[in-house]
Amino acid sequence: MSQIDPLPPLRDVIDSHGIAARKSLGQNFLLDLNLTSKIARIAGDLSGCDILEIGPGPGGLTRGLLAEGARKVLAIEKDSRCMAALDEIAQIYPGRLQVINGDALEIDPLQYLTPPIRIAANLPYNVGTELLVRWLTPKEWPPFWTSLTLMFQKEVAERIVAQPGSKAYGRLAILAQWRCDTRIALQLPPEAFSPPPKVHSAVVHLTALPEPRFPADPKKLEQVVARAFNQRRKMLRAALKGVAPDIEDRLIASGIKPTDRAETVGLEQFCALTRNLSAG
Ligand code: SAM
Repeated sequence: MSQIDPLPPLRDVIDSHGIAARKSLGQNFLLDLNLTSKIARIAGDLSGCDILEIGPGPGGLTRGLLAEGARKVLAIEKDSRCMAALDEIAQIYPGRLQVINGDALEIDPLQYLTPPIRIAANLPYNVGTELLVRWLTPKEWPPFWTSLTLMFQKEVAERIVAQPGSKAYGRLAILAQWRCDTRIALQLPPEAFSPPPKVHSAVVHLTALPEPRFPADPKKLEQVVARAFNQRRKMLRAALKGVAPDIEDRLIASGIKPTDRAETVGLEQFCALTRNLSAG
């Protein structure tokens, strides 16, 4: 019995259900239920919320989320070997855990969830960034979720919270910080996982703002930022050449020096440039 629920420790669950970690599925499991409960608490007050969890694996974080009072957890897991273990959790928490055996990139979770919805996951590294970008770029804002609490490789976590002037600053920082408050809530060494990955990890917590920090057309902002950072070593007047014939004037009108590089330009200035370009 574990300290947080009447279920066996995770190591026993993994052994009895034959869930040896597979690299191809990005499987690095958390085995410490005190740690998974801590991550669940970072997600905030769960009591009145539905939680979307991607990649529950043997269920460490799932158990943390349920023990911390989540109203319901919808867990999407690709590996069918994990289903029996997850079913045992569902029996301890009747009506509160729904598991879908499938690929998170292909499943629309919305039909199974009732707002308010939070997302919490120890993400598979191979699909983590793609899922994050999808959650950050919905057709409408505010999005279907109120917060994201996500484990990433530390290097990716640093890109999400990065400020101008730092090496990690780029498209991901702008996408995330334009419409969310972001913070690194917890850092974890490789030994926290089984098997230990090669790199350190970190939990990032993002809270959706009711509206963007600065006005800008989302598609246009994405285009400008993608181009600006695609050639991040170039001066912006060169990197953005072709975006508009009078790009130098537009940069100056937006408070940006044409000789600046993208990595030194703040979010507010990128939004100003986007508005200037949208104005025609
Ligand atoms: N949540 C568990 C934990 O913290 O111990 C497992 C985390 S492990 C890093 C990532 C999990 O995501 C694995 O269980 C893996 O099978 C699952 N996974 C990988 N690709 C997936 C996908 N496309 N859709 C859903 N689950 C996926």
